[in-house]
Amino acid sequence: MPASTALSVLPFDAWGLGLSRPLVVAGPCSAEDEQQVMDAALALKADGRTQVFRAGLWKPRTRPGSFEGAGDAGLAWLQRVKRETGLLTITEVATPQHVEACLAAGIDLLWIGARTTPNPFSVQAIADALNGVDIPVLVKNPINPDLHLWTGALERLHRAGLRRLAAVHRGFSWFERTPYRNSPMWEFPIRLKAAHPELELLCDPSHIAGSTERIASVAQQALDLGFSGLMMEVHPDPSLARSDADQQLTPAAFGEVLDGLIFRLAAPTAGMSDRLEELRDLIDQLDEEIAQKLGTRMDIAERIGDHKRTHNVAILQPERWERIMNRQLRLAAHLGLSEAFVREFMDAIHRESIQRQTGDSAEQVLVGSPSISSKNA
Ligand code: PEP
Ligand code: MN
Repeated sequence: MPASTALSVLPFDAWGLGLSRPLVVAGPCSAEDEQQVMDAALALKADGRTQVFRAGLWKPRTRPGSFEGAGDAGLAWLQRVKRETGLLTITEVATPQHVEACLAAGIDLLWIGARTTPNPFSVQAIADALNGVDIPVLVKNPINPDLHLWTGALERLHRAGLRRLAAVHRGFSWFERTPYRNSPMWEFPIRLKAAHPELELLCDPSHIAGSTERIASVAQQALDLGFSGLMMEVHPDPSLARSDADQQLTPAAFGEVLDGLIFRLAAPTAGMSDRLEELRDLIDQLDEEIAQKLGTRMDIAERIGDHKRTHNVAILQPERWERIMNRQLRLAAHLGLSEAFVREFMDAIHRESIQRQTGDSAEQVLVGSPSISSKNA
């Protein structure tokens, strides 16, 4: 693994576009037709808090056959948005052809989507197309939780000479059931920011939440964590949206979400209490995630219990537990956690898991089990 490259990137206010924190990027998931694009843009202009108008032209959809975006035809609609509202425009690029088309059309900023970031071939092709071109690019996290792929994409663009770079956290696809469409796994953007403090970080609560209800709380969490701004999906009539209908806000609902948010200062004003507050917010956030993950783990344990019962297999599988424990201990050593702590923590999880699988009291199930004794595992 090469040592991580320092990224010398510029803050929003040095991008020469008049951007300021908190940066609000908003607009429909997809540009569907000229009217829909103009209706969204005019509503956002009237609200006054959006600085950059977003709309996807080439839509990466999970399966073929659904709406795949307006394509090049939508470039003229974005030009019209800029002309008539003064809003800056941004769209997603996934290929050098998209880049060329956007540059020719004078689109102000580009973003790389979550399905492109994890593919170094595509990111390099985009970086090559951008070599020597100075346009701001936002890089969404890869769809899978891998910090190196996210950083790697930023580094490829950085090597191509781009300095107006920022990251967008849009959550991660995860096999566990979570209350989100894409699990926020805040530890990833936090680690990215810790490694590159100068990198501006936006949050896309729309793709994390996947439905309108959780957008405000996700957005607030991001602001509490010191994110520099938000990217949100807003559609004049979400019920008619041709992509991501469940998560798009009406302009009115978008206004209400913004009204309810507490925008934090980019940097603490001064003094230790601000810093303490900031660190406590981080701890609260991580504790909440730990609780959520434990809940999901127990749900899965119950399902495994059902499966074992159906197939008449014993609940307790000592070798399996030994493998889990050993893996966790290796990870713990890597993370600088004490062995005793990790053993105790994992044993407690195991006890609860077994109890959920059997419905019996954990003590009863585990008496005499060598696999969970803190010395033997
Ligand atoms: C989008 O912003 O509409 C989009 C496709 O996002 P993501 O790449 O994060 O899924
Ligand atoms: Mn979308």
